[in-house]
Amino acid sequence: MSARRALVTGVTGQDGSYLAELLLERGYEVHGMVRRSSSDNYERIAHLGDRIRLHQGDLLDPSSLLNLLRSVRPHELYNLAAQSFVPTSWAQPSLTGEFTALGVTRLLEAVRIVDPEIRFYQASSSEMFGKVQEVPQRESTPFYPRSPYAVAKLFGHWITVNYRESFGLHAVSGILFNHESPRRGREFVSRHVSEAVARIKLGLADTLPIGNQDAHRDWGYAREYVDVIWRMLQTEKPVDYVIGTGTAHSVREFIAEAFAHVGLDPADFVRQDPSRLRPAEVDTLLADPSRAKRELGWEARTSFVELVRIMVEADIEAQERSSGRRVGGPGAR
Ligand code: NAP
Repeated sequence: MSARRALVTGVTGQDGSYLAELLLERGYEVHGMVRRSSSDNYERIAHLGDRIRLHQGDLLDPSSLLNLLRSVRPHELYNLAAQSFVPTSWAQPSLTGEFTALGVTRLLEAVRIVDPEIRFYQASSSEMFGKVQEVPQRESTPFYPRSPYAVAKLFGHWITVNYRESFGLHAVSGILFNHESPRRGREFVSRHVSEAVARIKLGLADTLPIGNQDAHRDWGYAREYVDVIWRMLQTEKPVDYVIGTGTAHSVREFIAEAFAHVGLDPADFVRQDPSRLRPAEVDTLLADPSRAKRELGWEARTSFVELVRIMVEADIEAQERSSGRRVGGPGAR
């Protein structure tokens, strides 16, 4: 029997790279959509070499999406591409809407036209709960987005639901809470902290500028989350799920844990930076992932402390490689 074909948009991103690995392990023929850039940014998928096939396409360009689906004819399509950083969505709200909201419609239209049998996954976000209406947040919790990113994601979410209900597409939306890893973009707070702590430990920096330390997030490990993304497309009926760990921690706790790991006191390095505050805050996000556990047999396994350790260790190694400095012998961290 020939392999199932999967097409991943956003394959150069954090989740796309982990998902491509998982799909290869599970015997898929894996295709990735990449957008043209003057210099390539394939750092996260370089290790996969020619085991995945890359094709140019852009969420802004409908004909590129149509042609891509016509040539690849995937069985499964994972839409992970988006302008995914909340602060940038305040600086570029229209573009965020084009990518993160209308981009989903363009892709769903391409599915409907080329082959309505293609199974479609949409990367929805806990940011859609924003100013939360209930704690913890579950599939039935009303949404209250608090940024152009969250508004755009909510459009993407509802257009996916609408194409499922109107045209019978096997389209699902995963409402994922924060998930991090050493491959997280450097601008996101978790990675901003882990990289700064690594640089401070190596004597390459002496401050950690930070915005709101009281924001609480349900932080999981991205490597585990791509498994549940895959599981969501394998069910007989398309259903949307909330995915998270079920525990929340503050940015302050993340910082404390990261510094504790390298034996330093955050009070000596953390500096308040008002430019990092959001115009409208999302105070606390906390998932109730019980439906996913019950119906998909999935639950998060990596603890918060372990996640912080993985990220700080990876950044220390990366900074040691690029700077030539060393943290020191055994017990130094
Ligand atoms: P990421 O690292 O920022 O990756 C985003 C990807 O989208 C990149 O590959 C990027 O390509 C691509 N992209 C952006 N604009 C595009 C366009 N116009 N056309 C084609 N590709 C485009 O994001 P992530 O953390 O892996 O997250 C994956 C998805 O899950 C995103 O949709 C995100 O919003 C959503 N999500 C993430 C989290 C989380 O905690 N990580 C939580 C909930 C939902 P370039 O490399 O060319 O920039």
